Amino acid sequence: MSRMRIDNVDIKEADIFEILLDNFPDMIHSIDDDGKIVYTNLTAEKLLGYKREELLGMNIRQIYAPEVLKAVEKGFTDLKKRGDKTVESLLCAKDGTRIPVEIRSFSIYDDTGRFLRTFSILRDIRPIKELQQSLVHAGRLAAIGELASGVAHDINNPLTVILLSNEMLVRHLEALASSSKELERVINYAKDIQRASHSIQKLADHLRSFSRGMVEKAEPLDLYASINDAIFITKSKITKTGTIVNNHTEPGKYFVCACPNNIEQVFVNIIGNACDAMEGREKRQLDISISPAERKGVKMWKCDITDTGTGIPPQIREEIFQSFFTTKEKGKGTGLGLSISRAIVRDHKGEIELVSEMGKGSTFSVLLPSIEPPK
Ligand code: ADP
Repeated sequence: MSRMRIDNVDIKEADIFEILLDNFPDMIHSIDDDGKIVYTNLTAEKLLGYKREELLGMNIRQIYAPEVLKAVEKGFTDLKKRGDKTVESLLCAKDGTRIPVEIRSFSIYDDTGRFLRTFSILRDIRPIKELQQSLVHAGRLAAIGELASGVAHDINNPLTVILLSNEMLVRHLEALASSSKELERVINYAKDIQRASHSIQKLADHLRSFSRGMVEKAEPLDLYASINDAIFITKSKITKTGTIVNNHTEPGKYFVCACPNNIEQVFVNIIGNACDAMEGREKRQLDISISPAERKGVKMWKCDITDTGTGIPPQIREEIFQSFFTTKEKGKGTGLGLSISRAIVRDHKGEIELVSEMGKGSTFSVLLPSIEPPK
């Protein structure tokens, strides 16, 4: 064993590696063919709350959250075959705390190619997740502001109907001379009031559900509903810019497993941007369609949102997805919409693709893994 001297202290090289690994900010472990932990560093103790002696000998499956065990099993099998892998997963500490982690793993083999061990570096990504959540929240707040002014505008029409119908109702009630014709008219006014009130209720409901908590559960979701809700929310922008929307989607076909409010937010951002890009242009047309697609062997639904706007210069096509990148004037753009949208879609194991032609327009495609329609 080679030795070196540090400050006149004789240290074995192996100790130096041990010190380095123990002070590494990420958790490191090595596991054998059965998943038994055969090495772990000090960071793992701190992160998981187990003593190193406890961890050594434990099975890797015991430190993961139960809901990710199936994925862990598959990941472990793949890793043994393929050699290296980077995934996100969820650990479960001794006290039950859930810790989201990014795991980089690789396997080593003997001369005959027989699997020996895996080594993994696990980074605690709670700070990143929290930042992502606050970005989602910030974007949501910006969208709510826009939505609220739209709601104020949209509430005006049904409110005018309510007020007018009410006035007529009072007048006719006063003139009600027990004639059945008069009665029929009164009933019709009452129905108008009912319809207009429902319209207000729907707007208010939307505002409430859109601004509700950020942490949502993924559930089977028909993208048709998300698209229609997003069109509903962006209605005032669509009307203001005089955009014609051709929605080619149909209900009951495009199911994904997703958080409804988050996906709706993605479509709200993309449709809102498309309207902005078409403002003042001669042709203002938004085409929305959904078709099946496949990426890396995964079956997806691909939702294309095509505008006839300015187009996006090739040199900024990647930049527009970065936080705080905006070409809009002060007070109009936050530069958060697309970065948040991409984070949301990637969180759902999907992707946003972009095709754009200067002077002609752009297509933003939201790809999400498809699921079977719920029974
Ligand atoms: P913001 O809308 O606040 O600027 P985004 O992240 O949503 O932030 O968009 C970033 C930039 O991407 C916009 O400022 C705009 O320059 C560009 N962009 C997004 N969508 C389109 C589009 N459909 N057509 C042209 N440019 C677009």
